Amino acid sequence: MFIDSHCHLTAKEFDADREEVLQRALDAGVHAMVCPGTTIEDSRRAVELASKYDSVYACVGVHPHEAAKAGDRMLEELRELSAQPKVVAIGEIGLDFHYDFSPRDVQERVFREQLDLARERNLPVVIHTRESMDRTLAIVEQVLENDGSWRDDQTFVSRYPHPKGVFHCYPGDLTTAWRLLGLGFSLSFPGIVTFKNSGSAKEVAGAIPIEHILLETDSPYLAPVPLRGKRNEPANIPLIAGAIASLQGLSASDVARATNYAALKLFGIGTVGAPQFTYTLRDALYVNLTIRCNADCIFCDRGGDAIIKGINLKIEKEPTAEEVMAEIGDPTRYKEIVFCGYGEPTIRLEDMKTVARWVKQRGGRTRLNTNGHGNVINKRNILPELVGLIDAMSISLNATDPEEYGRLMRLNGPTFFNAMLDFAREAVKLFPRVVLTIVDIPEIEKPQAMAIAREVGAEFSVRLYF
Ligand code: SF4
Ligand SMILES: [Zn+2]
Repeated sequence: MFIDSHCHLTAKEFDADREEVLQRALDAGVHAMVCPGTTIEDSRRAVELASKYDSVYACVGVHPHEAAKAGDRMLEELRELSAQPKVVAIGEIGLDFHYDFSPRDVQERVFREQLDLARERNLPVVIHTRESMDRTLAIVEQVLENDGSWRDDQTFVSRYPHPKGVFHCYPGDLTTAWRLLGLGFSLSFPGIVTFKNSGSAKEVAGAIPIEHILLETDSPYLAPVPLRGKRNEPANIPLIAGAIASLQGLSASDVARATNYAALKLFGIGTVGAPQFTYTLRDALYVNLTIRCNADCIFCDRGGDAIIKGINLKIEKEPTAEEVMAEIGDPTRYKEIVFCGYGEPTIRLEDMKTVARWVKQRGGRTRLNTNGHGNVINKRNILPELVGLIDAMSISLNATDPEEYGRLMRLNGPTFFNAMLDFAREAVKLFPRVVLTIVDIPEIEKPQAMAIAREVGAEFSVRLYF
């Protein structure tokens, strides 16, 4: 099931067969479509369409191309329209210095006014920017500086900034992309990610965490390969999801689940699944034995919604070893069984060992993702007990300095930093594959972290923060 977060269903290109287009979308698994407005008239049509079809949601706004024609009553009319049910955002709004169909100062004024309306209505925004990223960003940053409370009453509790909007058909580079994520914006990519020459879109869509990507067709424009040049329609979303999946190294269903959650957080469309203690990512099965942990990392969402890539890990009751084994079934169906989740697996050492032994007996492979505090938690050296049960181990290095380590994980830095390094040194002797990982945040010095991994004798990898 997919969501097309940006399709101009009101376009005249659909006048002849709109009904069939919507049906084809449903048949292709696109269960929700968000139709932006480009003028007051168009916004009204989007609202009408949304009231007529369950699968359609509307945004209301004046596109930068149309800014000069916005008229004195623009805000009043948009305010009224935005109160209609199924209006999920103000959009599409922004700046377009490529075509310059409206004078730039008018574009800026109309953009600002609509940002203010979004704040007033506590709605997210859908932003169009073309050859105007610097100005767009400056304006958005200013708005956020002046009013930190916009969308802050979200029901989602998360370490991520509250979702404020989406930069649709994202045209910028990766550095700007990270900045936008930090401000609480998602990015969406249409069929451009399927083009051979996609500018920076492929690079960005492959590099940023999937949690911050929305799928869009931008129908009737920008049809994906192999339909390039034809009229585009929401039923083509799976082609775009497939392209993003291969850029991200995920399956199309991982992409669907994660992007649907992004759309839920931003637009309030859809629901979160029930908590689960196993989940698949790519071709591995992850086992969430516990959401308890001895640490409380500042970048961990364990205490928040505990949702990873759209998967709800907020389990209320920890699963028994038997329950986990029943869920795994035949372990050889997966590349590996990973003890991970939102919590420290070695807190449930005995159950983890039971499951791991059972997996190994059935020819499966196992990996442990740990903070490296297992020996402190269990008050003994647990590593020899895991030999033959665990094939690979990822240990979070998190920081290169003990004090920093303590600050990030909110525990006694020197004690636990040394415990973690001792654990890693010991693990390298006993297990064929040990990787030390850090989170990709600016405070952490990568070369230094790499040097520590080398000194310990482990491999090294960087995982994403957002
Ligand atoms: S060690 Fe892992 S599970 Fe524990 S708080 Fe840190 S990130 Fe979360
Ligand atoms: Zn558009």
